[in-house]
Amino acid sequence: MNTDTIDHEPEPDILPTDALALRRPDTPVTLSELAARKGEAIEIIEARVQILETLRKAALRATSPEDWLLFKAPEEAGGQIVGYLQDSGCERVRDLSGIEIFNVGAMEKVATNDPKIFHYLISGDGRRKLTGQVIEQVEGGRSSTDDFCRDKTGADLELAVRKAARANLDGRIVRELAGLSNVPVDEITEAWAGTKKTIDRCRKGRGFGSRSERLGATAEGVPDVEPPVCPHCKTKASYRKGKNGRGDFWGCPNYTKHPEKKWTVDADAYLKEIKAKQPAATSTVSAAAAPNTNGDAKEPQQQPLTAGDVFGKNRQPGEDD
Ligand SMILES: [Zn+2]
Repeated sequence: MNTDTIDHEPEPDILPTDALALRRPDTPVTLSELAARKGEAIEIIEARVQILETLRKAALRATSPEDWLLFKAPEEAGGQIVGYLQDSGCERVRDLSGIEIFNVGAMEKVATNDPKIFHYLISGDGRRKLTGQVIEQVEGGRSSTDDFCRDKTGADLELAVRKAARANLDGRIVRELAGLSNVPVDEITEAWAGTKKTIDRCRKGRGFGSRSERLGATAEGVPDVEPPVCPHCKTKASYRKGKNGRGDFWGCPNYTKHPEKKWTVDADAYLKEIKAKQPAATSTVSAAAAPNTNGDAKEPQQQPLTAGDVFGKNRQPGEDD
């Protein structure tokens, strides 16, 4: 973990000397104390790691595909796919991960000139009992413009944003302390072995095509690639099914605005061209492309956000439930 940890210098009179107790990751122990135990120290460390790994697997197992948002690195960077546990999922794993949230401040409203557009911010501290790790002054927040607010007004809207802001604070603390903002898909798949949960049911975020495509705006069978852009009006092309023996193609969605300038791109040729540029291309989520890094890695960088100025870089507005 890359955050501050509590400095464990327990008082001698409460220091557990029992070797069994030391195998528990939540028992404070110093390096010098472990060193004094010589060979036994390795066993103690291994036992602690084992417990943490088992709990992590149990926590991942408790999540559902709906709790995850997948990010895909650009093909030229390896195309790795990692999962970001959304606030809803963090609630599910919080107890299993032994995380406490405390010092929660007052909810702070950030108003704008438009009474319908406002934000709520809230900050708090978190502690992972198992490791003693603490993070302080974490900020969470949500906006009245987030997707989940769409049908709400008045007091309903206020309440919904406040509730979501608190869930976001909790989620951020859990993600950080439990290392769940950047989990290789292989690790999630492994934790789900023997269940009906599958990665392909997870929501896809950045790296998987445009937002409208991710939200299902296009029909099935549309290639998961960045579409070509119309040279006449600079609009992203729509994918069209070929008819009468013609192959599938991309065409301008605004073609009626420039009827004298016809433009289409043959799908097969376009995909071949893309493949030639990216020899390692994989387009399916189940591709075992994720690196075997641990959860401590930095979470994937987010795209520029409208609410990003308010909330920092930890999430995409509207992506959480
Ligand atoms: Zn056009």
